[in-house]
Amino acid sequence: MIPIARPLLGPEEQALVAETLASGSLAQGPRVRELEERFAAFVGVPHAVATSSGTTALYLALLAAGVGPEDEVITVPFTFIASATSVLYTGAHPVFVDVEPGSFNIDPARVEAAITPRTRAVMPVSLYGQPADLPAIEAITERRGLALIEDAAQSHGAALDGRRSGSWGQGVFSFYPTKNMTTGEGGMITTADADLAEWARLRREHGMKIRYHHEVLGYNFRMTDIHAAIGLAQLDKLPAFNARRIAIAARYTASLQGVATPRLSPGATHVFHQYTLRVLRRDAFAERLRERGVGTGVYYPIPVHRQKPFIELGYGDQSYPVSEQLSEEVVSIPVHPGLRDEEVDAVIEAVNATAAELGSHPESRVAA
Ligand SMILES: *Cc1c(COP(=O)(O)O)cnc(C)c1O
Repeated sequence: MIPIARPLLGPEEQALVAETLASGSLAQGPRVRELEERFAAFVGVPHAVATSSGTTALYLALLAAGVGPEDEVITVPFTFIASATSVLYTGAHPVFVDVEPGSFNIDPARVEAAITPRTRAVMPVSLYGQPADLPAIEAITERRGLALIEDAAQSHGAALDGRRSGSWGQGVFSFYPTKNMTTGEGGMITTADADLAEWARLRREHGMKIRYHHEVLGYNFRMTDIHAAIGLAQLDKLPAFNARRIAIAARYTASLQGVATPRLSPGATHVFHQYTLRVLRRDAFAERLRERGVGTGVYYPIPVHRQKPFIELGYGDQSYPVSEQLSEEVVSIPVHPGLRDEEVDAVIEAVNATAAELGSHPESRVAA
């Protein structure tokens, strides 16, 4: 079976972790600091704050934006649930707007109508490795005095006209093992705002700058130096990882038939965290691919407003037709940098054979 994801860890990660263990600095220390500095430079912002996960980074970024009880945060229902649960943790209410069918990302045209006097922030998600329309969202948040928090958990190195994901407002990254780079578990907030970075740093570590002198209510959302050591080696490899993902995606887009392939937004550098097709009879399609030795993933089979915790909160009656249709049509195929060329060929053959059996998606390319 060709797996849908496989973290690529080698002697570089092993050496840095071994060095870290030998140093005796295991919790947050110099390696976390180094990863923050290097990741900020990579994104193109002056500040980065490392955390224990993408989810804690989202929560901390929302708190840093002043989001709290009674507030509303506009985001999408077609995403991983943490985009919305992190809003709930603050006591605020997620307000969903639908996504665009082409990019799978937030539809800026729908944002303005969702703003109320309680809106505090807008959280676009750069899904599957393609930046949301961040300039359009920023024009709205600046005009309306709102915070912009990009859920960039899937878009390390993605860009719009060369400007990297994570450099508008606050960017929030995840380093979970399946992401384009990993630390095992980990997250990062990126920002140009020095005060905001300082605010988040203080809360990340029990509200203290001087040991056992606590200035504010804080948390333990620290990353460990062991995790940061993995991240330092991964960050070195990220450009090559992304280049390989992009090359595999180009082969798929040129060769796949009978399925709707990903659409690139103008000016976008899509880093293909996922290569996601829209197909007819999705569950059968995924099953046939498995039978043909190709692992698949469905991101995500249920939009957030239809997930149980959100139904309990009264979201179940809401309707977001694009998200709902996508959740029935999408299937992702392996695009990770560990794939060999023969595996890429095998995936193409399996997808084309399956689409020939189950029927062509109306938005697929016509067979040559
Ligand atoms: C992975 C992911 C998260 C959460 O990150 P963790 O590190 O797993 O906590 C949040 N949002 C999106 C879109 C993600 O893909």
